[in-house]
Amino acid sequence: MLDDTHRFLDLATGRLGLDENVQKQVKKANAEHIFKIDLDNGKSFNAYRVQHNNQRGPYKGGIRYHQNVTLDEVKTLATLMSFKTAAVGLPLGGGKGGIEVNPRELSAEELEELTRKYVRGLHQHIGPDQDVPAPDVNTNSTIIDWMVDEYEQLTGDTSRASFTGKSIPNGGSLGRDAATGRGGVLSLIEWLTLEGNGEKPLTYAVQGFGNVGSFFAATVAEMRPDWTLVAASDSQGAVYNADGFDADVLQQFKDSKGRFTDYKQGKQITNEELIALDVDVLVLAGLEDAVSKENMKAVKAKYLVEMANSPVTFDAHEYLGDKGHVLVPDIIANAGGVIVSYLEWVQNRADEKWSKDKVNQRLAKYMKSATNDLYDYVTENHVGMKEAGFVLALKKLYE
Ligand code: NAD
Repeated sequence: MLDDTHRFLDLATGRLGLDENVQKQVKKANAEHIFKIDLDNGKSFNAYRVQHNNQRGPYKGGIRYHQNVTLDEVKTLATLMSFKTAAVGLPLGGGKGGIEVNPRELSAEELEELTRKYVRGLHQHIGPDQDVPAPDVNTNSTIIDWMVDEYEQLTGDTSRASFTGKSIPNGGSLGRDAATGRGGVLSLIEWLTLEGNGEKPLTYAVQGFGNVGSFFAATVAEMRPDWTLVAASDSQGAVYNADGFDADVLQQFKDSKGRFTDYKQGKQITNEELIALDVDVLVLAGLEDAVSKENMKAVKAKYLVEMANSPVTFDAHEYLGDKGHVLVPDIIANAGGVIVSYLEWVQNRADEKWSKDKVNQRLAKYMKSATNDLYDYVTENHVGMKEAGFVLALKKLYE
């Protein structure tokens, strides 16, 4: 994954004619914090925070709890964050954190102890003007609220601007939970409109119907009820229904901890079959490397939306781009979360609480503007969309 990101960066730096020093600088993180967290019961976990670039503002990026977290993965995600915040024009930098843990194997007490100890290990390096973490895979507002509380106890900071993704009573922003999914839909609709295809009813499939995937579908149901959600999946399996699923019903099923392998109102298919479905839009909202050399030739969807980070590998990007598929790149497609995180931080600092409508309007402005820039660059320069996204971000970061 890190290699793939670097290959995209090489393409983009090459296109801009940036010298070797800049190429090296782009890939290097400013700081890597690596430590162990020991629980009172003797369990021990590897923890990371990588701060990639803060040229445009404080480091910004989520914290992931997953058994496959590695330093390389956190570095890649931190790099992507610097490019994401730049691509959509936020005054923020890029960072990422993670703990190598399967949170499902911990009790609630162990999870809280782990979370508070993560903040104890990092508090000197983070803060409202320095580095503002947020939730990511397997972390949520409850975990972030513990982090804010721990940070306050350690530093005395009561602004609550030290983290974003907080619960609403604790200073979170309305609209943050749906923001990433919503942003992806806004970007896709804007792209289709620019292409002259904005009015067509479409079919779509969502690989990874979690937070991001389910809010993508909920936003489609709100904004484009003429589109049909024909398939959805989780890590275990997928369900298919040519007549379409109700996004709300699927979201309620997932919220009640259901698995699609037990879902009866559709045909059971595998994740690989979902990726190969003959749909207009394939929404990739699971994890990285979902479409690679192994399965890229099976993809039939004209449009792929990278809602996860790096769900399409470099080779698959090249192949699908050559075949005329349209790939809305992660650094723009999934930037809705960091945009509303930024809006949460702004509200905390000004001691304000905005309505959901106001938040959504601001989000739409950022997404539309970034997608228009992307469209202009791609059509004027005849380059792949991901490369174009990196070029636009690089211009803001280094020119
Ligand atoms: P989540 O844990 O809520 O949902 C992920 C979903 O993907 C789950 O349903 C899981 O079962 C499924 N999944 C995991 N592996 C899969 C696989 N191999 N095949 C099919 N499905 C699989 O996480 P999320 O918050 O929705 O994040 C999803 C992705 O979006 C991640 O890559 C994350 O980094 C990225 N992202 C999230 C946000 C955010 O605001 N949450 C912002 C930007 C990017």
